[in-house]
Amino acid sequence: MLFCNIDLLDEKFALQRGQYVGVKDGRIAYIGETEPQEDYGERYDGRHRLLLSGFYNVHSHAPMTLLRGYAENLPLQRWLNERVFPFEDQLSDEAAYYATQLAIAEMLASGTVSFTDMYFFLDGMTKAILESKIKCNLSRGLTVFDDSDYEQTAAYRDNLRLLGEWNGAGDGRLIGDLCIHGEYTSTPKVVEAVAAQAKASGARMHIHLSETQTEHEECKQRHGMTPAAYMQAHGVFDVPTTAAHCVWLEGEDFEILRSHGVTVACCPASNLKLASGYANIPKLLDMGINVALGTDGAASNNNLNILQDLYLFGVVYKGYYRNSTLITPVQALYAATRAGALAQGREDSGLLRVGCRADLCVIDTDTPQFTPMTDAACNVVYAAQGADVKLTMVDGEVLYRDGAYTTIDIERVKAETQRCTDDIIRRLQRGERQHD
Ligand SMILES: [Zn+2]
Repeated sequence: MLFCNIDLLDEKFALQRGQYVGVKDGRIAYIGETEPQEDYGERYDGRHRLLLSGFYNVHSHAPMTLLRGYAENLPLQRWLNERVFPFEDQLSDEAAYYATQLAIAEMLASGTVSFTDMYFFLDGMTKAILESKIKCNLSRGLTVFDDSDYEQTAAYRDNLRLLGEWNGAGDGRLIGDLCIHGEYTSTPKVVEAVAAQAKASGARMHIHLSETQTEHEECKQRHGMTPAAYMQAHGVFDVPTTAAHCVWLEGEDFEILRSHGVTVACCPASNLKLASGYANIPKLLDMGINVALGTDGAASNNNLNILQDLYLFGVVYKGYYRNSTLITPVQALYAATRAGALAQGREDSGLLRVGCRADLCVIDTDTPQFTPMTDAACNVVYAAQGADVKLTMVDGEVLYRDGAYTTIDIERVKAETQRCTDDIIRRLQRGERQHD
């Protein structure tokens, strides 16, 4: 495809007007003011359009679209124990398949090209991911509440497949990561075993870290150290790690993350909705820690439109720390794009640069909210709506365009997801009645 006469945000997020961008063999092959001689196939009319790097959503639980609106207005521990965990006990690969497709459809429609996910029912999930052609770093949520050895868990068997047959599938779009759900949902020996497997196999790690004050303080009581110190002590940070939330970091925690190159997946909407608190994003950025952006699952957000998290990321820390100079639009855009690609180990992605992967999105600027275009980066961070995205491309292939999907049967996916949720809720209600 050749994007013709299109405005773009370059790799420094500066506006360049009236450019030509050629895409070939999955990569950005040409960027310039003049039309290239070479034939790039379809010519895309770029008038009133803004081209930029697609977004990387580095913390999600895709099948939780099933739980959208099901677990509401509860503190996190009750939210998990009373609503989320019983619902998840009723899941199946079929439900996870449709719910993952639904999540991907929502992400593609708002410009997300790649996501980092943690969940289970991987047969259903991997099928949905590979069929859709979106990129994903997928890990198997691991929770252990008894004395089990890691090798006895169902997660261990899934992880062998993640590191084997699924790792690099779909021309490298699917990458298998390893996972510790969190300190409070695992045991030291299992944490060490997973960390050792990650080190031996070269896998990346995806964890929850210091999301709530309760979790953070209880870890200190249990182990005499913070969750960050605990993960470090058990070898988790010896491999590249994405740590979600990091709201309650304190003292040496920041230096632990910095010295190990840990990426912080900031999930502002989830942190606000579950009342977890405000991460110290300004300090993390000041220290040069890689901060990327996540939506978290649809049960705690309740949408997967990363532009909404981008907006919150851009404004809430200014308000919380009462300093309007914190977090510039460029820092926010970097977090939503390049920082996420680096967190996923995709070094050649997340930048609008010749030679990089053509993971792109196009925004309609012929709208009230984009007029006037005095500062395009500010418009994207503070004014854009998810529905302003008109095209999403992954590895040079258009997956979403003008409301239509090229790899997802959206009407079927919506209907099947609704059916799966209805079935689960009916079973839960029957179970409750039997219990009475
Ligand atoms: Zn999460």
